[in-house]
Amino acid sequence: MAKQGKLIIFSAPSGAGKTTIVKHLLTKFPELEFSVSATTREPRGDEEIDKAYHFISKEEFLHLIAKKQFVEFEEVYSGTFYGTLRTEIERIWKKGKTVIFDIDVEGGLHLKRKYNGAALAIFVQPPSLEVLKERLTGRGTDSEEKLKERFAKAEKELNYAPRFDIILKNNDLQTACKDAEELVKNFLK
Ligand code: ADP
Ligand code: 5GP
Repeated sequence: MAKQGKLIIFSAPSGAGKTTIVKHLLTKFPELEFSVSATTREPRGDEEIDKAYHFISKEEFLHLIAKKQFVEFEEVYSGTFYGTLRTEIERIWKKGKTVIFDIDVEGGLHLKRKYNGAALAIFVQPPSLEVLKERLTGRGTDSEEKLKERFAKAEKELNYAPRFDIILKNNDLQTACKDAEELVKNFLK
């Protein structure tokens, strides 16, 4: 077992901008490494296999659940599973690095409860539900049906913000990235 290190959790409804902010932070802080989740969804856009996600079948996912390989997992959308592998966190801590997550709201709170003070849980807040919908539609990666499912979930998830350590407003992207850099810098000290 690796020595326990730190964790930085970015959670938000889909479309709030967490992937964009996490990617930015990874270019700025070599001491961070991204936790690659496992998922049963298909790769989309320019996502690289085993970099964006470990894309696996539902059978394989269920097998990993049975073998207790997940620190947390969720059926984030109906029939589509996402989960954080134990081995992923261990791998990153072994290198002496801090793990950074892009994870849904329930999963983020789950990790925060588990790791407490070792974890910083950040909720990325869009200016409004309307803007969130525009961003998600503008990203152009989801079908009409998938968009509807994501909007419905987003509306509920926005209420979870106060349960996080910090709410990071993502109105202007550049400002949000700078604010995120400050938060990470202070937490890594
Ligand atoms: P998430 O990972 O939370 O689902 P993304 O990072 O994929 O969100 O962002 C959703 C879309 O919104 C992307 O097309 C991204 O470029 C865009 N975006 C992110 N932040 C902003 C912002 N502050 N202003 C405008 N567009 C943004
Ligand atoms: P997407 O399909 O847009 O990549 O992700 C959908 C949602 O699943 C996002 O909110 C994303 O953060 C979340 N997600 C990604 N990986 C995990 C994970 O390992 N666990 C949980 N609970 N959610 C995840």
